[in-house]
Amino acid sequence: MLLLVLGTAAGGGIPQWNCACPGCSGARAHPHRRRRHASLAVRTGEGRWYVVNATPDIGDQIEDRPELHPGPGPRQTPIAGVVLTDAELDHTLGLARLREADRLQVTATAPVRQALRDRLRLGEVLTPYTDLTWRDLPARGAEPLDPTASGLRISGIPVSGKRPRYAADAPDDDAWVVALRLYDPASGATALYAPALAAWPDSLQQAAAEADCVIVDGTFWDDEEPRRTGISSRTATGMGHLPIDGPGGTAERLAPLSARCLYTHLNNTNPLVDPAAPQHKRLARLGIEVAYDGMVIEP
Ligand SMILES: [Zn+2]
Repeated sequence: MLLLVLGTAAGGGIPQWNCACPGCSGARAHPHRRRRHASLAVRTGEGRWYVVNATPDIGDQIEDRPELHPGPGPRQTPIAGVVLTDAELDHTLGLARLREADRLQVTATAPVRQALRDRLRLGEVLTPYTDLTWRDLPARGAEPLDPTASGLRISGIPVSGKRPRYAADAPDDDAWVVALRLYDPASGATALYAPALAAWPDSLQQAAAEADCVIVDGTFWDDEEPRRTGISSRTATGMGHLPIDGPGGTAERLAPLSARCLYTHLNNTNPLVDPAAPQHKRLARLGIEVAYDGMVIEP
């Protein structure tokens, strides 16, 4: 299995266009601290890739990686489709940027698909430009990620019923947010990708315990961070993101796992966006890594 980390920032990116917080200002002053919106490319065969979450940066994220460049035909792209973990704007706005594609296949759970069709009207908007097809992301069991290529299998483990703000009144469903489980029968390797975690259900714990690589939501360092930094009146948990540190935080969940564990989806207020922050040493002592843009992972 081969994974390319295309971005590691939460909504807004780092820097965020209208933000002068220390994290964003630091990234303007030191370009190596910049992080694009969290996304992952998964290889399913020679010259075939699926992108997990279509961010507002997707065009630049593709340009950053030679593996994802088009060719040899004039409009031949190695990107075979997009898989969505949720319907949040920072994970879906990039679909509109892919409208030049001859065809666009989007794999998502039923509530996510419905939000994109009924609320964002993406079906109506994109159909005049490209051949848009939807595929169901199985919440139970697993199916081939790429039916035409190798045997990599995917499933979505329901994580929470947290809806995006634009669909706040949409029906309840436990599959609004899923953790993506990738299984490679050839090597036996399993990877788990969960950039948005409002809860840590037993099914996720079980999948994490069996995985070789676990990449999860590192939006906020601690629960008070959004209030302390003045970006929200809610806590991290209240905003739908389990914090890294503290009781009930994700670090204490990850530390005992035998898997390689990494954080992604860092908010610009997270102290981890500063490479010199002492929090990096805290995580290193627990054996947990912080993913970076351009990282290559081979679970
Ligand atoms: Zn900022």
